[in-house]
Amino acid sequence: MNKIEHIGIAVQDLKTANSLYAKLFGMPHYKTEAVPSEGVNTSFFQVGPNKIELLEATDAESPVAKFLAKKGEGMHHIAFSVTDIEAEMVRLKKEGFVLLSEKPKLGADNKLVVFLHPKSTHGVLIELCQEIEGR
Ligand code: ZN
Repeated sequence: MNKIEHIGIAVQDLKTANSLYAKLFGMPHYKTEAVPSEGVNTSFFQVGPNKIELLEATDAESPVAKFLAKKGEGMHHIAFSVTDIEAEMVRLKKEGFVLLSEKPKLGADNKLVVFLHPKSTHGVLIELCQEIEGR
């Protein structure tokens, strides 16, 4: 794994959260993006070298909606960038980690992503993401 790519925060209402975090960081988000595969709308803030992703559920069955119903708003996941997501998936499976999908999915921000089950990572939802090249 290369570095923390971003930290994800689950929010009830993206618009409200965008304006609050804009005040916190002293700058607006630089983009919003719908991710149909995960049932979310996202927005991204660049804070120095770090990125923060806000996530709002777009349907009641999405993982983020379930997270919000169970735990309320807050820290949702930590994403790490990887160079070869398929190879990392094979490596982590061998190490006994539980992956939430068999194949990488198309995530926000032009990335292939996969999540590790928090049960296998001491309660932290971890996302792996690989930049899609040539887009
Ligand atoms: Zn993320």
